[in-house]
Amino acid sequence: MFRPYRTKGTGPRGDGTNGSHFPMNDQRKKNAGGRRLEVCFPGLDQLSEVYADLERQIANFKRGAGIECLRKCTFCCATAKFVEASIFEMLPLSLHFWEEGRAPEILEKLEGIHPEAPCILLNPNPPDELSGGCSYYHFRPLICRLFGFSATVDKNGKPVIALCAPLKELHWGVAERVNKKIREDLPFPLMPDFSRKVAMIHPQLGQEKYPVNIALLEALELVGHKMHFLKAARRET
Ligand code: SF4
Repeated sequence: MFRPYRTKGTGPRGDGTNGSHFPMNDQRKKNAGGRRLEVCFPGLDQLSEVYADLERQIANFKRGAGIECLRKCTFCCATAKFVEASIFEMLPLSLHFWEEGRAPEILEKLEGIHPEAPCILLNPNPPDELSGGCSYYHFRPLICRLFGFSATVDKNGKPVIALCAPLKELHWGVAERVNKKIREDLPFPLMPDFSRKVAMIHPQLGQEKYPVNIALLEALELVGHKMHFLKAARRET
């Protein structure tokens, strides 16, 4: 019997803290006025919890399936014209860029970018094995977390692992081996399940998907507008 993981309830991250999954501490948020800004975007705490749960499931799945990303591989990111994200998924990184004062520089990079251009967050010379080529690994959107370590559903309704091409080429038969384990009861994160879950946190900004650079551009602009309104409102009071 197939046994996809289901998201558990909310709760501590399991690392001894109750903090956000995104690397922003409360003091920094306060200093930057980020808390007030985050109030404009409800659902980010829930998103953080879904990601934390997904991370736990993926860690178990990787162990059970015996698969891992290739060392310092950037294949998925380099083919980012297929990477799509919602504006909602790019909000945590956009808030971070505005907090750090880097938003104008990033917006300039994204202005007029071709929708099929590689992700601008990709570092072709990854500094460590874990992050692959992502310069903002902890803020990456949902698909970048799911791909390679979750299952989609085939035309017969059966779950099948969504595995990257380099792994399949290097380890012949790996997809069949992992699919067999799935059929034999290895719990796995189900891609459509997580997509739905994340989209439903903020249906307005979470349902529509865009190429990753465009989603980031839209999210940065949206956060910029909100900041502008907040500042104007503060001036009036
Ligand atoms: S957000 Fe990060 S992980 Fe996703 S495509 Fe861009 S560089 Fe790769």
